[in-house]
Amino acid sequence: MTSPIDDFVQQNQTRFFDELLEFLRIPSISTLPEHRQDVARAAQFVADGLTRAGLENVEVVPTDKHPLVYADWLGAPGKPTVLCYGHYDVQPPDPLELWKTPPFEPNIRDGNVYARGACDDKGQMYMHIKAVEALRHVHGGKLPVNVRFLIEGEEEVGGDSISRYVPLHKQKLKADVALVSDTELFADGVPTLCIGLRGLIYLEIEARGPARDLHSGVYGGAAPNAVYGLIELLAKAKDADGHIRIPGVTDDVVPPDAAELESWRRLPFSEEEFLRDQVGSSALTGEPEQSVLERVWARPTFEVHGIAGGFASAGAKTVIPAQATAKVSLRLVPGQDFEEVGRALERAVRTAAPEWAEVRVNLLHGGNPVQVDVTAPAFEVLDQAFESVVGRKAVPVRAGGSIPIIPELGLTGAPVILTGIGLPDDGLHSPNEKLDLSQLWSGIEIFGRFFEMFARSGAGSATPRPVRSA
Ligand SMILES: [Zn+2]
Repeated sequence: MTSPIDDFVQQNQTRFFDELLEFLRIPSISTLPEHRQDVARAAQFVADGLTRAGLENVEVVPTDKHPLVYADWLGAPGKPTVLCYGHYDVQPPDPLELWKTPPFEPNIRDGNVYARGACDDKGQMYMHIKAVEALRHVHGGKLPVNVRFLIEGEEEVGGDSISRYVPLHKQKLKADVALVSDTELFADGVPTLCIGLRGLIYLEIEARGPARDLHSGVYGGAAPNAVYGLIELLAKAKDADGHIRIPGVTDDVVPPDAAELESWRRLPFSEEEFLRDQVGSSALTGEPEQSVLERVWARPTFEVHGIAGGFASAGAKTVIPAQATAKVSLRLVPGQDFEEVGRALERAVRTAAPEWAEVRVNLLHGGNPVQVDVTAPAFEVLDQAFESVVGRKAVPVRAGGSIPIIPELGLTGAPVILTGIGLPDDGLHSPNEKLDLSQLWSGIEIFGRFFEMFARSGAGSATPRPVRSA
């Protein structure tokens, strides 16, 4: 189905495409100091692109590390405001030898453009910018909706600058919805909306036994072993079926409702393929009464990441370790609070520790789970946009991990749409990252229509009308 936005995109395809390739040629690898100038160049490229698209107040905001880019267009009084987020930095491309063509020399094969950042996130962020440019053209130099852009260059290195910026500029970033496209579709042709992220608490547990490492021949049989004591302690955290048995940790877990569970059952997901292609072990583990998607999205976890203590080098040394440390974490789901979970874990460790052991629990970092309130009008509008371009509404999914920007953007008071136009095989963070060009063009169309439909939806305006003096 063609539309005025589509027509404009068609007419400008060559230019849009050339600009994207130019963007992809900039090796804006945020983690490598030798690319600092490239990162700065990418920020300027984004700023120029925003200016070209007709945005105003375009600013490259210096930070301690890599610049933020801000821009807005607020010429639609009484209409809602969309805050578009994206990032222009990319992951390092190594291992280079696995790339079929160089990562910063975009190559077109089989309807895809291959380059680092093609999907994550340059390509997807570019869709927002080009949607605005097309829309402005279609609407005679104006936009039907107010928009703000906040684009960062530190997403791949923790996003410190944006997390400092957002709380200080809540008013400047005020919007009715925040739009993030930085993930992939659940499956090709299935528009996807992420509505929940697990939280995390990361801890270090230390056990001390004897005053010093002891000879296992002289003392073995009578002296406590710190590594073994720690293992016994850790083994109590879960039963054989993977149920967490730490008192007080799972009491308040809120399970997904029936409708959400039903929607997961309809997703094109194969446990067999997940086991074979992604996990690569002989069997899956975890709570048998829960589906795999429930286990990775909606159930808390307890993992041991590593244990240190005693002797583990080459050869043999007969020692009874005096001290042992384990790094552990729990992924958290709605109903859980990371500070409460931390306290419960510490209590459990003290209660369950062998009487000879001196134990210590250190909290390294934590964050609460996030649930997106999808009752805001923007979500219905996004579904309409997907339906009009792709022919179906978005399926709601969750992410088992955390995506830092979601709680950050939530601070602006706007509900956060976390979607993605990438395909599951786009290879984000991997060699031969790509963007399917049909996804590029349909993405511009989807977001263009979303802006247009949101303007018409009558959703509340976060932008105050200009005050008229009497
Ligand atoms: Zn990304």
